[in-house]
Amino acid sequence: MPYTEDRATWFEGQGLWQHIPESDWRSWTWQLKHRITSVAQLEQFMTLTPDERAGCAFADQKLSLAITPYFFNLIDRDDPDCPLRKQVIPRAGERQLSAEEQLDSLGEDEHSPVPGLVHRYPDRVLFLVTDRCAAYCRYCTRSRLVSNAQDYNFHPEYEQALRYIESHPEVRDVLLSGGDPLLLSDKKLEHLLARLRAIKHVEFIRIGSRIPVFLPQRITPELCEVFKKYGPIWMSIHMNHPKEATQELKDACDRLAFAGVPLGNQSVLLKGVNDDAEVMQALVHRLLRMRVRPYYLYQMDLITGGAHFKVDVRQGLAIIESLRGHTTGYAVPQYVIDAPGGGGKVPINPDYVEKITDREVVFRNYEGARFSYPLTSTPVPDRTPADVPHPHAHPHAHLPPHPVVP
Ligand code: SF4
Repeated sequence: MPYTEDRATWFEGQGLWQHIPESDWRSWTWQLKHRITSVAQLEQFMTLTPDERAGCAFADQKLSLAITPYFFNLIDRDDPDCPLRKQVIPRAGERQLSAEEQLDSLGEDEHSPVPGLVHRYPDRVLFLVTDRCAAYCRYCTRSRLVSNAQDYNFHPEYEQALRYIESHPEVRDVLLSGGDPLLLSDKKLEHLLARLRAIKHVEFIRIGSRIPVFLPQRITPELCEVFKKYGPIWMSIHMNHPKEATQELKDACDRLAFAGVPLGNQSVLLKGVNDDAEVMQALVHRLLRMRVRPYYLYQMDLITGGAHFKVDVRQGLAIIESLRGHTTGYAVPQYVIDAPGGGGKVPINPDYVEKITDREVVFRNYEGARFSYPLTSTPVPDRTPADVPHPHAHPHAHLPPHPVVP
Protein backbone atom coordinates (compact mmCIF):
# COMPACT_ATOMS: atom_id res chain seq x y z
CA MET A 1 0.00 0.00 0.00
CA PRO A 2 1.43 3.45 -0.88
CA TYR A 3 2.70 5.49 2.02
CA THR A 4 0.39 8.29 3.09
CA GLU A 5 0.80 10.98 5.66
CA ASP A 6 -0.94 14.05 6.95
CA ARG A 7 1.33 16.69 5.47
CA ALA A 8 -0.12 19.48 7.59
CA THR A 9 0.68 17.79 10.90
CA TRP A 10 3.93 17.40 12.80
CA PHE A 11 3.86 14.80 15.53
CA GLU A 12 4.35 16.25 18.99
CA GLY A 13 3.70 15.38 22.59
CA GLN A 14 4.97 13.12 25.34
CA GLY A 15 3.01 10.01 24.36
CA LEU A 16 3.63 7.27 26.92
CA TRP A 17 5.36 9.75 29.23
CA GLN A 18 2.39 12.11 29.81
CA HIS A 19 2.91 11.81 33.58
CA ILE A 20 6.39 13.35 33.37
CA PRO A 21 6.72 17.11 33.98
CA GLU A 22 7.34 18.91 30.72
CA SER A 23 10.58 20.32 32.11
CA ASP A 24 11.90 16.75 32.52
CA TRP A 25 10.72 15.74 29.07
CA ARG A 26 12.53 18.70 27.55
CA SER A 27 15.73 17.92 29.43
CA TRP A 28 18.26 15.97 27.39
CA THR A 29 19.87 14.55 30.49
CA TRP A 30 16.46 13.24 31.66
CA GLN A 31 15.96 11.61 28.26
CA LEU A 32 19.38 9.96 28.43
CA LYS A 33 18.87 8.76 31.98
CA HIS A 34 15.54 7.16 31.04
CA ARG A 35 16.59 5.37 27.89
CA ILE A 36 15.23 1.91 27.25
CA THR A 37 18.25 -0.36 27.35
CA SER A 38 16.97 -3.87 28.13
CA VAL A 39 14.47 -6.44 26.92
CA ALA A 40 12.68 -6.22 30.26
CA GLN A 41 12.15 -2.48 29.81
CA LEU A 42 11.03 -2.93 26.23
CA GLU A 43 8.50 -5.56 27.27
CA GLN A 44 6.96 -3.20 29.77
CA PHE A 45 5.77 -1.17 26.81
CA MET A 46 5.27 -3.59 23.94
CA THR A 47 5.14 -7.20 22.85
CA LEU A 48 8.31 -8.19 21.06
CA THR A 49 8.22 -10.66 18.20
CA PRO A 50 10.32 -13.85 18.57
CA ASP A 51 12.62 -12.39 15.89
CA GLU A 52 13.14 -9.25 17.97
CA ARG A 53 13.62 -11.18 21.18
CA ALA A 54 16.36 -13.26 19.53
CA GLY A 55 17.99 -10.07 18.26
CA CYS A 56 17.86 -8.42 21.68
CA ALA A 57 19.52 -11.44 23.26
CA PHE A 58 22.49 -10.89 20.94
CA ALA A 59 22.72 -7.09 21.30
CA ASP A 60 25.30 -7.09 24.07
CA GLN A 61 27.73 -8.87 21.72
CA LYS A 62 26.99 -6.81 18.63
CA LEU A 63 25.74 -3.29 19.39
CA SER A 64 24.01 -2.22 22.58
CA LEU A 65 20.31 -1.60 22.77
CA ALA A 66 19.33 1.96 23.70
CA ILE A 67 16.33 4.06 22.71
CA THR A 68 15.41 7.48 24.09
CA PRO A 69 11.83 7.84 25.40
CA TYR A 70 11.37 10.61 22.82
CA PHE A 71 12.19 8.27 19.89
CA PHE A 72 10.41 5.28 21.42
CA ASN A 73 7.18 7.30 21.31
CA LEU A 74 7.42 7.45 17.53
CA ILE A 75 7.43 3.67 17.16
CA ASP A 76 4.21 1.87 16.27
CA ARG A 77 4.13 -0.73 19.03
CA ASP A 78 1.38 -2.70 17.26
CA ASP A 79 3.24 -3.03 14.00
CA PRO A 80 6.30 -5.32 13.83
CA ASP A 81 7.05 -3.77 10.43
CA CYS A 82 7.15 -0.22 11.75
CA PRO A 83 10.07 1.43 9.91
CA LEU A 84 11.30 3.19 13.06
CA ARG A 85 11.07 0.05 15.14
CA LYS A 86 13.30 -1.78 12.64
CA GLN A 87 15.99 0.86 13.01
CA VAL A 88 16.44 0.57 16.77
CA ILE A 89 15.06 -2.78 17.96
CA PRO A 90 17.47 -5.64 17.18
CA ARG A 91 16.36 -8.59 15.10
CA ALA A 92 17.73 -12.09 14.67
CA GLY A 93 19.22 -11.15 11.28
CA GLU A 94 22.07 -9.43 13.16
CA ARG A 95 23.45 -12.86 14.04
CA GLN A 96 23.53 -13.93 10.41
CA LEU A 97 26.93 -13.27 8.84
CA SER A 98 27.58 -13.21 5.11
CA ALA A 99 30.83 -13.81 3.24
CA GLU A 100 30.97 -10.25 1.85
CA GLU A 101 30.65 -8.54 5.22
CA GLN A 102 33.42 -7.09 7.32
CA LEU A 103 33.85 -5.59 10.76
CA ASP A 104 35.56 -2.50 9.36
CA SER A 105 33.86 -2.44 5.97
CA LEU A 106 35.30 0.96 4.98
CA GLY A 107 38.88 0.15 5.96
CA GLU A 108 38.95 3.05 8.44
CA ASP A 109 41.34 1.43 10.89
CA GLU A 110 44.11 1.13 8.33
CA HIS A 111 43.86 4.83 7.52
CA SER A 112 44.11 5.87 11.15
CA PRO A 113 47.43 7.60 11.94
CA VAL A 114 46.43 8.24 15.59
CA PRO A 115 43.59 6.73 17.65
CA GLY A 116 40.28 8.35 16.69
CA LEU A 117 41.48 10.01 13.49
CA VAL A 118 40.90 8.67 9.97
CA HIS A 119 42.90 10.34 7.21
CA ARG A 120 41.79 8.80 3.93
CA TYR A 121 41.33 11.78 1.59
CA PRO A 122 44.28 14.20 1.33
CA ASP A 123 42.48 17.35 2.49
CA ARG A 124 39.96 15.90 4.96
CA VAL A 125 40.03 14.02 8.24
CA LEU A 126 37.39 12.17 10.17
CA PHE A 127 37.74 12.85 13.89
CA LEU A 128 35.97 10.19 15.97
CA VAL A 129 35.42 11.83 19.34
CA THR A 130 33.31 9.26 21.19
CA ASP A 131 31.91 5.75 20.85
CA ARG A 132 28.57 6.60 22.47
CA CYS A 133 25.23 7.59 20.88
CA ALA A 134 21.85 8.63 22.26
CA ALA A 135 20.30 5.54 20.65
CA TYR A 136 21.86 2.81 18.53
CA CYS A 137 20.99 2.15 14.89
CA ARG A 138 20.98 -1.55 14.13
CA TYR A 139 22.74 -1.00 10.79
CA CYS A 140 25.53 1.22 12.16
CA THR A 141 28.64 1.24 9.96
CA ARG A 142 30.84 1.60 13.03
CA SER A 143 29.10 -1.05 15.12
CA ARG A 144 32.55 -2.62 15.60
CA LEU A 145 33.41 0.20 17.99
CA VAL A 146 30.20 2.10 18.79
CA SER A 147 28.77 1.24 22.25
CA ASN A 148 31.76 -1.07 22.88
CA ALA A 149 29.58 -4.20 22.75
CA GLN A 150 32.35 -5.87 20.71
CA ASP A 151 35.10 -4.91 23.21
CA TYR A 152 36.84 -2.64 20.73
CA ASN A 153 37.81 -0.38 23.63
CA PHE A 154 37.87 2.80 21.65
CA HIS A 155 39.84 5.54 23.36
CA PRO A 156 40.06 8.69 21.27
CA GLU A 157 43.20 10.72 21.91
CA TYR A 158 42.02 14.29 21.44
CA GLU A 159 45.39 15.89 22.05
CA GLN A 160 47.22 13.55 19.68
CA ALA A 161 44.55 14.00 17.01
CA LEU A 162 44.63 17.80 17.34
CA ARG A 163 48.42 17.83 17.10
CA TYR A 164 48.23 15.65 14.00
CA ILE A 165 45.81 18.10 12.36
CA GLU A 166 47.98 21.06 13.42
CA SER A 167 51.01 19.50 11.80
CA HIS A 168 49.28 18.61 8.52
CA PRO A 169 48.65 21.83 6.60
CA GLU A 170 46.95 19.92 3.80
CA VAL A 171 43.98 19.20 6.11
CA ARG A 172 41.40 21.88 5.41
CA ASP A 173 38.26 19.97 6.41
CA VAL A 174 37.55 18.23 9.73
CA LEU A 175 34.47 16.08 10.28
CA LEU A 176 33.61 15.35 13.91
CA SER A 177 31.81 12.06 14.22
CA GLY A 178 31.81 8.93 16.37
CA GLY A 179 29.54 7.75 17.95
CA ASP A 180 27.74 11.03 18.32
CA PRO A 181 29.79 14.17 19.01
CA LEU A 182 26.78 16.01 20.43
CA LEU A 183 26.80 13.67 23.40
CA LEU A 184 29.89 15.51 24.62
CA SER A 185 29.26 18.30 27.10
CA ASP A 186 29.10 21.87 25.82
CA LYS A 187 32.41 22.49 27.54
CA LYS A 188 34.19 19.61 25.81
CA LEU A 189 32.72 20.48 22.43
CA GLU A 190 33.68 24.10 22.86
CA HIS A 191 37.22 23.07 23.71
CA LEU A 192 37.47 20.95 20.54
CA LEU A 193 35.90 23.58 18.30
CA ALA A 194 38.09 26.35 19.74
CA ARG A 195 41.23 24.29 19.15
CA LEU A 196 40.19 23.45 15.59
CA ARG A 197 39.20 27.05 14.83
CA ALA A 198 42.63 28.19 15.98
CA ILE A 199 44.31 26.06 13.29
CA LYS A 200 44.75 28.42 10.36
CA HIS A 201 44.61 25.77 7.62
CA VAL A 202 41.36 24.23 8.91
CA GLU A 203 38.78 26.05 6.81
CA PHE A 204 35.79 23.80 7.18
CA ILE A 205 34.41 22.14 10.31
CA ARG A 206 31.42 19.84 10.24
CA ILE A 207 29.62 17.51 12.60
CA GLY A 208 27.82 14.28 11.78
CA SER A 209 25.09 13.66 14.34
CA ARG A 210 21.87 11.74 14.80
CA ILE A 211 21.18 13.55 18.07
CA PRO A 212 18.66 15.96 16.50
CA VAL A 213 16.62 12.90 15.45
CA PHE A 214 17.04 10.79 18.61
CA LEU A 215 17.29 13.56 21.18
CA PRO A 216 16.30 17.00 19.83
CA GLN A 217 16.25 18.28 23.43
CA ARG A 218 20.07 18.29 23.25
CA ILE A 219 19.95 21.24 20.83
CA THR A 220 19.83 23.78 23.63
CA PRO A 221 20.25 27.55 23.26
CA GLU A 222 23.59 27.17 25.10
CA LEU A 223 24.84 24.62 22.59
CA CYS A 224 23.73 26.88 19.75
CA GLU A 225 25.76 29.71 21.30
CA VAL A 226 28.85 27.49 21.01
CA PHE A 227 28.13 26.93 17.32
CA LYS A 228 27.62 30.66 16.81
CA LYS A 229 30.90 31.45 18.50
CA TYR A 230 33.00 29.06 16.39
CA GLY A 231 30.87 29.01 13.25
CA PRO A 232 30.30 28.31 10.56
CA ILE A 233 29.91 24.75 11.80
CA TRP A 234 28.14 22.60 9.22
CA MET A 235 26.01 19.68 10.34
CA SER A 236 24.74 16.50 8.74
CA ILE A 237 21.80 15.03 10.55
CA HIS A 238 20.58 11.49 9.88
CA MET A 239 16.90 10.99 9.17
CA ASN A 240 15.66 7.90 7.38
CA HIS A 241 11.89 8.11 7.44
CA PRO A 242 9.31 10.92 7.37
CA LYS A 243 7.84 9.71 10.67
CA GLU A 244 11.01 10.97 12.34
CA ALA A 245 10.10 14.55 11.39
CA THR A 246 8.42 15.80 14.55
CA GLN A 247 7.66 19.27 15.82
CA GLU A 248 10.54 18.86 18.30
CA LEU A 249 13.00 18.00 15.54
CA LYS A 250 11.70 20.87 13.41
CA ASP A 251 12.21 23.27 16.33
CA ALA A 252 15.72 21.91 16.92
CA CYS A 253 16.57 22.45 13.24
CA ASP A 254 15.25 26.01 13.51
CA ARG A 255 17.52 26.66 16.49
CA LEU A 256 20.51 25.28 14.61
CA ALA A 257 19.71 27.22 11.45
CA PHE A 258 19.27 30.47 13.39
CA ALA A 259 22.67 29.83 15.00
CA GLY A 260 24.13 29.82 11.50
CA VAL A 261 24.56 26.05 11.14
CA PRO A 262 23.99 24.90 7.53
CA LEU A 263 22.08 21.61 7.67
CA GLY A 264 22.23 18.56 5.44
CA ASN A 265 20.81 15.08 5.84
CA GLN A 266 22.34 11.67 5.26
CA SER A 267 19.97 8.72 4.93
CA VAL A 268 20.82 5.07 4.62
CA LEU A 269 18.73 3.07 2.17
CA LEU A 270 17.22 0.33 4.34
CA LYS A 271 14.96 -2.56 3.43
CA GLY A 272 11.49 -2.16 4.91
CA VAL A 273 12.32 1.33 6.14
CA ASN A 274 12.70 3.70 3.22
CA ASP A 275 13.19 1.55 0.08
CA ASP A 276 10.07 3.03 -1.42
CA ALA A 277 9.57 6.03 -3.72
CA GLU A 278 6.60 7.50 -1.82
CA VAL A 279 8.37 7.20 1.52
CA MET A 280 11.52 8.81 0.13
CA GLN A 281 9.57 11.64 -1.42
CA ALA A 282 7.76 12.34 1.86
CA LEU A 283 11.11 12.20 3.67
CA VAL A 284 12.89 14.70 1.42
CA HIS A 285 9.92 17.07 1.44
CA ARG A 286 9.80 17.06 5.24
CA LEU A 287 13.54 17.71 5.31
CA LEU A 288 13.24 20.78 3.08
CA ARG A 289 10.43 22.11 5.26
CA MET A 290 12.80 21.81 8.23
CA ARG A 291 15.56 23.78 6.40
CA VAL A 292 17.57 20.59 5.87
CA ARG A 293 19.01 19.81 2.45
CA PRO A 294 18.90 16.09 1.58
CA TYR A 295 22.59 15.45 0.97
CA TYR A 296 23.48 11.75 0.66
CA LEU A 297 21.46 8.58 0.27
CA TYR A 298 23.84 5.75 1.18
CA GLN A 299 23.77 2.26 -0.11
CA MET A 300 24.24 0.30 3.11
CA ASP A 301 27.81 -0.58 3.99
CA LEU A 302 28.75 -4.25 4.15
CA ILE A 303 28.81 -4.50 7.93
CA THR A 304 28.55 -7.80 9.76
CA GLY A 305 24.97 -8.95 10.33
CA GLY A 306 23.48 -6.25 8.12
CA ALA A 307 22.21 -8.28 5.15
CA HIS A 308 18.58 -8.11 6.29
CA PHE A 309 18.70 -4.35 5.66
CA LYS A 310 20.31 -4.56 2.23
CA VAL A 311 18.40 -3.09 -0.74
CA ASP A 312 19.09 -3.88 -4.41
CA VAL A 313 20.99 -0.98 -6.00
CA ARG A 314 18.50 -1.04 -8.90
CA GLN A 315 15.78 -0.15 -6.41
CA GLY A 316 17.92 2.74 -5.10
CA LEU A 317 18.35 4.02 -8.66
CA ALA A 318 14.61 3.73 -9.31
CA ILE A 319 13.96 5.82 -6.19
CA ILE A 320 16.37 8.52 -7.37
CA GLU A 321 14.70 8.48 -10.79
CA SER A 322 11.34 8.90 -9.10
CA LEU A 323 12.63 12.10 -7.51
CA ARG A 324 14.83 13.70 -10.18
CA GLY A 325 12.71 16.05 -12.28
CA HIS A 326 9.57 15.04 -10.41
CA THR A 327 10.28 17.28 -7.44
CA THR A 328 12.43 20.24 -6.40
CA GLY A 329 16.09 19.74 -7.32
CA TYR A 330 17.15 20.67 -3.77
CA ALA A 331 15.17 17.66 -2.55
CA VAL A 332 17.18 15.06 -4.46
CA PRO A 333 20.06 13.53 -2.48
CA GLN A 334 23.15 12.08 -4.13
CA TYR A 335 22.96 8.30 -4.04
CA VAL A 336 26.39 6.88 -3.16
CA ILE A 337 28.17 3.66 -2.42
CA ASP A 338 31.03 4.01 0.01
CA ALA A 339 33.43 1.70 -1.81
CA PRO A 340 34.16 -1.41 0.28
CA GLY A 341 37.64 -1.45 1.77
CA GLY A 342 38.11 2.32 1.72
CA GLY A 343 37.71 3.52 -1.87
CA GLY A 344 35.66 6.54 -0.84
CA LYS A 345 32.14 7.62 -1.77
CA VAL A 346 31.21 6.98 -5.37
CA PRO A 347 28.08 8.59 -6.85
CA ILE A 348 25.62 6.14 -8.40
CA ASN A 349 23.32 7.84 -10.89
CA PRO A 350 20.53 6.79 -13.20
CA ASP A 351 21.79 6.75 -16.74
CA TYR A 352 20.37 9.81 -18.49
CA VAL A 353 23.12 10.04 -21.12
CA GLU A 354 22.58 7.64 -24.03
CA LYS A 355 25.45 8.61 -26.26
CA ILE A 356 28.23 11.20 -26.62
CA THR A 357 29.96 11.76 -29.94
CA ASP A 358 32.14 14.65 -31.19
CA ARG A 359 28.95 16.21 -32.54
CA GLU A 360 26.35 15.78 -29.82
CA VAL A 361 25.25 14.33 -26.56
CA VAL A 362 22.00 12.40 -26.65
CA PHE A 363 20.16 12.07 -23.40
CA ARG A 364 16.73 11.58 -21.97
CA ASN A 365 14.82 13.68 -19.47
CA TYR A 366 12.82 12.63 -16.43
CA GLU A 367 9.83 11.74 -18.64
CA GLY A 368 11.90 9.52 -20.88
CA ALA A 369 11.86 11.95 -23.85
CA ARG A 370 15.13 11.96 -25.81
CA PHE A 371 17.04 15.16 -26.56
CA SER A 372 20.17 16.12 -28.42
CA TYR A 373 22.54 18.85 -27.30
CA PRO A 374 24.96 19.82 -30.09
CA LEU A 375 28.64 19.91 -29.20
CA THR A 376 29.56 21.68 -32.42
CA SER A 377 28.96 25.32 -33.38
CA THR A 378 28.16 26.18 -36.99
CA PRO A 379 28.61 29.94 -37.55
CA VAL A 380 26.04 31.51 -39.90
CA PRO A 381 27.87 34.56 -41.34
CA ASP A 382 24.92 36.85 -42.00
CA ARG A 383 22.75 35.87 -39.06
CA THR A 384 21.88 38.70 -36.65
CA PRO A 385 20.02 38.62 -33.30
CA ALA A 386 16.94 39.83 -35.15
CA ASP A 387 16.97 36.59 -37.17
CA VAL A 388 16.72 34.47 -34.03
CA PRO A 389 13.10 33.40 -33.57
CA HIS A 390 11.47 35.13 -30.62
CA PRO A 391 10.47 32.69 -27.90
CA HIS A 392 6.96 34.16 -27.74
CA ALA A 393 6.48 33.50 -31.43
CA HIS A 394 7.83 29.95 -31.13
CA PRO A 395 7.59 28.99 -27.43
CA HIS A 396 10.39 26.42 -27.48
CA ALA A 397 12.67 27.94 -30.07
CA HIS A 398 15.08 29.38 -27.45
CA LEU A 399 15.69 26.04 -25.79
CA PRO A 400 18.78 24.46 -27.32
CA PRO A 401 18.15 20.75 -26.65
CA HIS A 402 15.42 19.63 -29.05
CA PRO A 403 13.63 16.37 -28.60
CA VAL A 404 14.99 13.90 -31.08
CA VAL A 405 12.17 11.46 -30.55
CA PRO A 406 8.63 12.58 -29.80
S1 SF4 B 1 23.85 7.45 15.55
FE1 SF4 B 1 25.38 7.11 13.94
S2 SF4 B 1 27.17 6.30 15.03
FE2 SF4 B 1 25.40 6.11 16.41
S3 SF4 B 1 24.59 4.07 16.08
FE3 SF4 B 1 23.48 5.45 14.71
S4 SF4 B 1 24.61 5.35 12.78
FE4 SF4 B 1 25.97 4.55 14.38
